[in-house]
Amino acid sequence: MIARHFIGGRWSDAGARIEVEDPGTGEAIGEVVLADGETVDEAVMAADACHRSGALTGPRPAYRLSLMLRMAGAIREVTEQGAEILCRESGKPLSDARGEFEEAARYFEYYGGMADKLEGRSIPLGENYFDWTVREPHGVSAHVVPWNFPVGLAARSLAAGLAAGNCIVIKSPELAPLGLTVLVEALANADLPAGAINLVSGYGRETGEALIRHPMVRHIVFTGSVPTGRAILHAAAERIVPSVMELGGKSAGIVHADADIDTVVASVESGVFFNAGQVCSAMSRLLVHDSLHDELAHAIRQRAEALRIGHGLEDPDLTPLISADQLDRVEQLCSSGLRDGATAITGGQRIDRAGHFMQPTVFTDVRASMAIAKEEIFGPALSLLRFRTTDEAVAMANDTDYGLVAGVFGRDLDRTLDTARQLDAGQVFVNEWFAGGVETPFGGTGLSGYGREKGLEALDNHLRTRNIAVRLNR
Ligand code: NAD
Repeated sequence: MIARHFIGGRWSDAGARIEVEDPGTGEAIGEVVLADGETVDEAVMAADACHRSGALTGPRPAYRLSLMLRMAGAIREVTEQGAEILCRESGKPLSDARGEFEEAARYFEYYGGMADKLEGRSIPLGENYFDWTVREPHGVSAHVVPWNFPVGLAARSLAAGLAAGNCIVIKSPELAPLGLTVLVEALANADLPAGAINLVSGYGRETGEALIRHPMVRHIVFTGSVPTGRAILHAAAERIVPSVMELGGKSAGIVHADADIDTVVASVESGVFFNAGQVCSAMSRLLVHDSLHDELAHAIRQRAEALRIGHGLEDPDLTPLISADQLDRVEQLCSSGLRDGATAITGGQRIDRAGHFMQPTVFTDVRASMAIAKEEIFGPALSLLRFRTTDEAVAMANDTDYGLVAGVFGRDLDRTLDTARQLDAGQVFVNEWFAGGVETPFGGTGLSGYGREKGLEALDNHLRTRNIAVRLNR
């Protein structure tokens, strides 16, 4: 398969190409066409023409509602085909790839249902005035997504942006552009107005920068790493372009002494090993009450060692990392943990087989000052730390520059909720890591970024408010 550009309703394969690799085997499985500055310009101009034509905002808003419900149906029709491609290019288990397309369809249903409910308000100014607000799209919105959930993350911002009436240019991630191409093919087949959604592929430094620096771009949604987010914000600052930043994390779960061990272990399995740990909201640190630490460490080790490891198409529990570079990074960070004095009770190294597999890794004897306790690992590695008092646990959990998610486990509702209240993160999970859904607002504090995706709050990012103040001639 070739990941092509989709511009103004037409597919194009003009440009140089690079290979797309299957991280489970290291073999090439497709190609991606790289968009240069000229191609990006065409895509932005197509979005701008669509915006100015009023194709999305001219008809009654119920038009966008029905368009988006058609899109949700079209996504479901390509789920099997798209899931296999996404599984092969990203390495993730086939059932998770299917889940990502299902989630994509849900975003279009959820935000489609809001498209005809974006109302303004009237503001009383006394009998001589009539004043109201209108919520309107920014115009051309540029979206840049990473490779770890290319379909789900693209769908979450495309759906909210489209419901708000924006015309969008999205840049696919160069390492995993194929599944997103299938998604956009499905949207294109649902009578999408030409230019409403445009897709370009390519490297961040070329295609991505050309897109976010384009003078017609009026709004940016970026999901990815902190250094890239910072670079994009510098560029956005030049033209004062409003931006949503969904960046990394170093999230902690707190396990109180009365927590149910099976519940915690199930959450560790999803929190740490889902998508091989390549999740911005991964459970990266687990702070465990001293009285439960050894028993829990043993149970987590047993679960980690029982994980079935394999190629995504076999639908195993643990799959490869996205690339050789990513594997090197994760392994080096794990080695630094050992040098710093942590103990790997299981794992700690790459797996000697084709593809980019890392052992499921659990560290004990971790101190808060170690790199493995401070830096985002983005691999299947967990650090266990001990605490004695709740205050100590909260201080350790909040001792990070990030603030994406956090978690608390325990049966005593008062203590558990009081702990949750003190955690400085955009979303706090209680007794289930990754509780929530497309309906629940998601986003960070600190280095994890700002703005919210998912839930009703996301629409606020994609809309701007115009106030109309009328002096009545009485
Ligand atoms: P990355 O920042 O390297 O790349 C993300 C995207 O940005 C890619 O499409 C890339 O091509 C593009 N890009 C790179 N440089 C650019 C530039 N100068 N201008 C414009 N675009 C540019 O991140 P990654 O390695 O692909 O993804 C992993 C990171 O993403 C992790 O830090 C992870 O935590 C974060 N992430 C955050 C969320 C969230 O919702 N908060 C979700 C998933 C991933």
